[in-house]
Amino acid sequence: MKTSACAYNYVLRIQSWHPIPEKNVLYFECPNGHTYNALQVLTHAPDWICPKCKSELKIHERGCRIFRFASEVLPGETTSDNKHGQSTEVKNSVYPEFKKWLPPHYIKRDIKHRNMAMTLTDPQNGNIFCDKPYQGDDIVVEFVAYSQTVQSTAGKQRLSIWQDEEPPYDFHEEQLPRLMAEDGDLLLSLTPANRLSWSYDEVFERAQLYIRTKAVCDFLRTPDYDPPQVEYTDSPHSIAVVQAATDDNPTLSKEAIEDKMSQYDDPDIIATRRFGVHKQVKGRIFKSFDYKVHFIDRDTYFPYGIPHSWNHARGIDYHPQTPWACGCMSLSPENEAFIWLDYNPSPEKYTTKEICFNFATQCKDYKFMLNLIDPLSEGIKKDKITILDDINREFHYLKHEGIGEGGYFVTWDTKGEKGRDEIRKRLKNSIHCERPYNNKSSQDGRDTYLPTIWILSNCKTAAKMMKMWRWEEYADTRFRMQKEDKNKPEDKWSHMNMVWEACCKHPSFRPPRLSCEMRHQPPKRYFQGRR
Ligand SMILES: [Zn+2]
Repeated sequence: MKTSACAYNYVLRIQSWHPIPEKNVLYFECPNGHTYNALQVLTHAPDWICPKCKSELKIHERGCRIFRFASEVLPGETTSDNKHGQSTEVKNSVYPEFKKWLPPHYIKRDIKHRNMAMTLTDPQNGNIFCDKPYQGDDIVVEFVAYSQTVQSTAGKQRLSIWQDEEPPYDFHEEQLPRLMAEDGDLLLSLTPANRLSWSYDEVFERAQLYIRTKAVCDFLRTPDYDPPQVEYTDSPHSIAVVQAATDDNPTLSKEAIEDKMSQYDDPDIIATRRFGVHKQVKGRIFKSFDYKVHFIDRDTYFPYGIPHSWNHARGIDYHPQTPWACGCMSLSPENEAFIWLDYNPSPEKYTTKEICFNFATQCKDYKFMLNLIDPLSEGIKKDKITILDDINREFHYLKHEGIGEGGYFVTWDTKGEKGRDEIRKRLKNSIHCERPYNNKSSQDGRDTYLPTIWILSNCKTAAKMMKMWRWEEYADTRFRMQKEDKNKPEDKWSHMNMVWEACCKHPSFRPPRLSCEMRHQPPKRYFQGRR
């Protein structure tokens, strides 16, 4: 029922019959913030006086009267979806469903081959509101497909956006700014197939409110957990999730459902397909990365910066066009890794010289025992000089100028999983230790330190990339993306991680051996406010 519920909701909003007044194209407000839809005004406030506070009602001024319905394919088109080795046809179901609920006499102009926008007359036109016959501008419903380039869907504001089935992350991200001016909302209707990727942690996990059908609750119930049908969380995000199961579909008998589900033998797949319940986060490369644990407040832990006596490493993931990923991480004598700098300059905005200057400046006066760079930088030549030569010359020159301690960049090792495994191990240990400076364990009278990793709160991009990076097979959405589209999520979120992997797999990235005296210098200088 999700598609019809969404379609019907938009018809109500066009009619000004939606029970939440602000969702309607036309709604009324008083100076004290009470709001009403047209039906409520006609029945409870025929004299345009707010029934709650007795002040005058006014029509809310809209800057935009356009709804956007986005889906995998445009109305009338089909595409094939290659899933589980079977090719099935995907059609646009949004358009026919919307037409089913929309009174046909509202339609002024339907969609045509080239023009995917539907023009509707405002159904409230001619009714008397605020003592005047109301005359609203046309309402537009535009249809877009995920395969359309982000650019072609960018630009103007929208009242509300409906995404039917999970779009590629780039597409979704591009929609959010379109809703700002009108304080619009976004609806995402989806059948959680096992390929659900970003919407799990970006939307599902962050909900403030969960509404579940009885069938979903029955499925989730365990001896020590009785899930409520309506559950509020302390999430700061204004997100609500409505969860229904295949069992809630009144047109399917229980036998038909059992029969349909018997083709899956994996209980996790049945949980997602039948009950919309996600058993695990699938496809994330650093599954254990958790903002609540690994993303630590810089000012609490390092009010005076990272100690100079630690071992420092930095790296550059070089790209000819997309932003470079430059980052620094340091190892403490107790084998704790701290990521403390991320810098993502676009080579289209800055010259190599400017990027080197900015990066060197941000690295302050630390001396780096490791300066690593993507080998791609060695392959691109301008007048027989590689980008790598350029960078090294620049850092040499900057040191002469008194900026930074210099550093000779060498290409990193691209092979093997050692770096990734090392990060995974450290992430898990950090969860075990809960916070920095808490990794000492004693075995047979000997002190050992669990290797951990932490990201300082100023490194927002580094943290986001660690959270969002996924396996290609999951990031590879089932929508046909153009081959030349280089911004698929798996590329997009990899860059900072390449730097950390390269550092972690390098044999000389080891904790510094400090003299007893140095080690026992009171850590207070660097670290205050430990709980
Ligand atoms: Zn009022």
